[in-house]
Amino acid sequence: MKFKDCPWCYGKGCNQCKIELDKAMKDSMEPIFTTKLDSPEEIELANEVIGREAIEKAFGPDGGGLQEVKLNAAVASMKRVLRKQNSKK
Ligand SMILES: [Zn+2]
Repeated sequence: MKFKDCPWCYGKGCNQCKIELDKAMKDSMEPIFTTKLDSPEEIELANEVIGREAIEKAFGPDGGGLQEVKLNAAVASMKRVLRKQNSKK
C-alpha cells in the first residue's frame, strides 16, 4: 500500500507506509470538544470546557487535569445533544 504523506518514501510506496498511515490516523482522531461559538448556548458550553475557570479548576491543586477537561467536554457534548432534542419538541 502507499501513503501519500509517508516521510520515508514520499508516497512512492514502502514497507513503512502502513505504519505511517496508522500514525496519521491516530493524530487526526476527533478532538475532545468542538464548537463554532455561534450561539450564546455554545459559548456557555465552551466556557464549561475551555473557559478560564474550567481550565484553572482542572489543572489546579484539586483538579483532575486532562481527565477533568475530557469529562467536562463529555458533559458539555451531552448537554448540547439534550438541548437539541428539547428544541425539537
Ligand atoms: Zn512509504
